[in-house]
Amino acid sequence: MNRNKREKEYYSIDVGDSTFTVLKRYQNLRPIGSGAQGIVCSAYDHVLERNVAIKKLSRPFQNQTHAKRAYRELVLMKCVNHKNIIGLLHVFTPQKTLEEFQDVYLVMELMDANLCQVIQMELDHERLSYLLYQMLCGIKHLHAAGIIHRDLKPSNIVVKSDCTLKILDFGLARTAATGLLMTPYVVTRYYRAPEVILGMGYQANVDVWSVGCIMAEMVRGSVLFPGTDHIDQWNKVIEQLGTPSQEFLLKLNQSVRTYVENRPRYAGYSFEKLFPDVLFPADSDHNKLKASQARDLLSQMLVIDASKRISVDEALQHPYISVWFDPSEVEAPPPAINDKQLDEREHTVDEWKELIYKEVMDWEERTKNGLIRGPPASLGAAVSNDSHESSTNDVSSMSTDTDSSQETSAGPLRCCR
Ligand code: AMP
Repeated sequence: MNRNKREKEYYSIDVGDSTFTVLKRYQNLRPIGSGAQGIVCSAYDHVLERNVAIKKLSRPFQNQTHAKRAYRELVLMKCVNHKNIIGLLHVFTPQKTLEEFQDVYLVMELMDANLCQVIQMELDHERLSYLLYQMLCGIKHLHAAGIIHRDLKPSNIVVKSDCTLKILDFGLARTAATGLLMTPYVVTRYYRAPEVILGMGYQANVDVWSVGCIMAEMVRGSVLFPGTDHIDQWNKVIEQLGTPSQEFLLKLNQSVRTYVENRPRYAGYSFEKLFPDVLFPADSDHNKLKASQARDLLSQMLVIDASKRISVDEALQHPYISVWFDPSEVEAPPPAINDKQLDEREHTVDEWKELIYKEVMDWEERTKNGLIRGPPASLGAAVSNDSHESSTNDVSSMSTDTDSSQETSAGPLRCCR
């Protein structure tokens, strides 16, 4: 495409501290959140005639961490297609050549709120169990593709008012270092499993721990293990669940074991104490049964020793969750990931720039005529964020906090199955 034609297709608009330069098909941009990678806006897409979310990645190749994450996301989103994982509708860059290449814009299905907002709501068993079921379906699908997330948290999970749920990202690359002895940097660790905090080997049920923490937070209305840093994170876990057995400690490497063994010993609390009846709707026999099932599920997910923790499949079969079981959602065919070296890649800034640029060009080619892969038809109609014709771009109330971006408007959650 020639330069002039391309220039005419784009326009720029200020959103908070950032300028979005987007295709003219996207109008009425409004900030809805921000994360480690950048700002997210809602917009109306005049081609698809629907609301979308647009995330701007500014110079994603600038360092290893950003580059690996952006590249991994672009590659994985191309392969994964499941109703509980966010779908990418379009990818573009307004820059015209590799030399000028700066920013990537990811256009996604627009959801109504992230899970941080839902946690503030009083959820009945039906909604709580349905949200958990969908999280587990999404996670199972990622696992089937060999993707173990390890960093699930409420800000990376989004919902619609009809109670449908999607996971926004693919978590930590296999090669990402996370352990107790790592330099602390600002990131939410509340939901990270003991094996991640302690830098141990891990298996797929590492993600079940995070689901347990998220479920606990939905029940309690506050973070279960609110560690102030990566060391305090471990303290919060053992204060509530108790010091783990010698058998577990023997699995740690020497320096971490020395640290862990030198912590004060804690007996921990029973799950009846940690999650008393008052936290659950238990006004009928049915609700009392559900509350005891919910507590039982929590007690099987929040187990420090991963070898004794429930698996994703077992969680999906648990009576609290299995009421929603639908084989087409649980056993969707696994996506094939072609780039086997995805997590091992190490490149210079220039190499990353070229790799990411090529991925963006590939996406542009695939989406040239509009939509290549939309969300499942059943979700298409219930866009409660549909009143986007207003042209105000009010950024004054926008949160810049990485993990509490809560600008999407959570309507009451309807549960419709
Ligand atoms: P992220 O940069 O992906 O971590 O997203 C930051 C925040 O933006 C999330 O916590 C959500 O509040 C919001 N967000 C991101 N993507 C979407 C989306 N597709 N629909 C609605 N909100 C979103």
